[in-house]
Amino acid sequence: MKKQKRFKFKILRVFFLISILPLLIISASSLYIVVSSGQKNIIELQNLAIDNTSEKVQKFLNEKMDMFNLVVSGTPKSLRDIDMNNLNYLIDNLRTMAGDVSEISFINRDGVEIVKRSLVGGTRYNNVREREDFQTAFSGKNYIGEVVYEDGISLIRLSSQIENSDREVIGVISALVSLKSLDAVIEHIKLGESGFIYLIDQNGKFISSSRSDYLPLGKDLSDVVEVKNILSKKVKDKEGLNIYKNSIKEEVVLASGALDEYRWFVISEWPKNDAYQAINHMIIQSLLIIIITITLVIIFGLITSRQIIRPIKVLSNGVNKISEGDLEYKIELPTGDEFEKLAKEFNKMTDVLKENSELRDEFVFIAAHELRTPVTAIKGYVAMILSNDFGKISENIQQPLRTVEGANNRLVQLVQDLLQVARSEAGKMIIELKSVNIKNNINNVAKELKSLSDEKNITVNYKDPGKNVVVLADDNKLNEVIINIIGNAIKYTLSDGSIDIFHEVNKDKNILVTHIKDHGIGMKEEDMEKLFSKFYRVQTEKTAKIEGTGLGLFICREIIERMGGKIWVESDVGAGSTFSFSLKTK
Ligand code: ADP
Repeated sequence: MKKQKRFKFKILRVFFLISILPLLIISASSLYIVVSSGQKNIIELQNLAIDNTSEKVQKFLNEKMDMFNLVVSGTPKSLRDIDMNNLNYLIDNLRTMAGDVSEISFINRDGVEIVKRSLVGGTRYNNVREREDFQTAFSGKNYIGEVVYEDGISLIRLSSQIENSDREVIGVISALVSLKSLDAVIEHIKLGESGFIYLIDQNGKFISSSRSDYLPLGKDLSDVVEVKNILSKKVKDKEGLNIYKNSIKEEVVLASGALDEYRWFVISEWPKNDAYQAINHMIIQSLLIIIITITLVIIFGLITSRQIIRPIKVLSNGVNKISEGDLEYKIELPTGDEFEKLAKEFNKMTDVLKENSELRDEFVFIAAHELRTPVTAIKGYVAMILSNDFGKISENIQQPLRTVEGANNRLVQLVQDLLQVARSEAGKMIIELKSVNIKNNINNVAKELKSLSDEKNITVNYKDPGKNVVVLADDNKLNEVIINIIGNAIKYTLSDGSIDIFHEVNKDKNILVTHIKDHGIGMKEEDMEKLFSKFYRVQTEKTAKIEGTGLGLFICREIIERMGGKIWVESDVGAGSTFSFSLKTK
């Protein structure tokens, strides 16, 4: 059994090695591809969102800036050469067009503000000659200032030159523009379900986000390592994703881009769970496919190994049956392959064994048959000599002659037993079933064996059932069985004691069980199993001196079974044995 199991596992191991191992390797590499391409996707999507944002913000600011690029008609050399009414008209127009302007002024080429509209600090006309915005714009370049945060509003100063039709710079427009409407420009930029982008200025202060109420305006993020890296442009193209815990303690995938012209930065933060959703989905799907495939391979492997093992099991069962003595058994294995051939060869071998066994039985039968006449003759002559039929014999001849008689009796018994066995095995044992009153058989045998039991001071108690106890049996053979069992009960009880014989009727099944219980030496469990086989004798100190052939119980079993019954024993070492046999009553 153990070896068969191991062979099955060997097959399974080979099966798994050649099917599951490559499958696992392929699965692992496809999982790796899924994960890395998923990560690439995340990076690409983030970069797309950043580019999109940059474009929109740039457009927003450029549009504002373009409005302040003013060319006046004619060739005035300074703003003061222009009619004040016209300048007022112009500045009001510009303010309306640009919208969200909290301060706008026209600065003359000498640096003095000459027209001004302000929502906050009144309209004092200052000299701003030293201011950076004035200087930059006057030199012919657009000026984009730092973002300032005031009362919950972010403002940026934009300045540009005013030219005459000769393209000469005659003054500067400087405006403080609110970035309030920037929120609306980027608010719809999203990544997955919860990814968002936001803008910071060159100092790391928060300007605007596509996620509403993400951080308070002007919040300084320059302390955050990741933001610091972005500000100092230390962010390299890393392999894989940049994941960190953001200002609101959320684990996010981070990416960034720079708006160089304005020195702003666009940052995208995509909550990890959300970003990985697609990857996780693909991983789960791949795992599912892998699990299903492996399960199928295992099932297939089990089925295949079972198919391989099955003929081996059939063969082993057959060989077992044959070795137990069933030489009629034929191994049926129509597999159409080498196993079928092997089974046929086994069957051929069984035929040879059967032939040999028949030859042996025939030999035993002939030998026993040939021996029977001389030993019976010896028995008769010795008996006659001992009863002085050939004249009186002296005392000193009587003793050895009795020894000869004893030995010859054993020889007669052996020859009889051998003949019985040979007949039964050749199927030549003749059994004639008829109704027999077993009560008579038991009483007769008890009487016959009385001298033996008396010798050992053993009483045989047969609980007379009163009425007739009829069974279906062969009278003579039944006698043989009873002689054997009661004989053994006497033989294997050392001295003194009793033998109890009683019946048990099983009416439902029309069966009568006869029990013969002794209080003799008993036997072990392992002996009980082999007791009814040919030549088996229990080998103990107590049985060593008791003579016998080991054939009696074998013959009893053959007879009882041929009469349609069963025989068995229950025993305990030292406590005695009960031999029981059943016979049909009808
Ligand atoms: P044997 O000729 O040796 O008695 P049997 O076939 O009659 O052969 O019995 C087989 C063996 O069973 C005996 O050798 C003996 O060891 C054991 N045996 C049989 N009957 C009894 C019994 N009543 N008590 C103990 N052992 C027994």
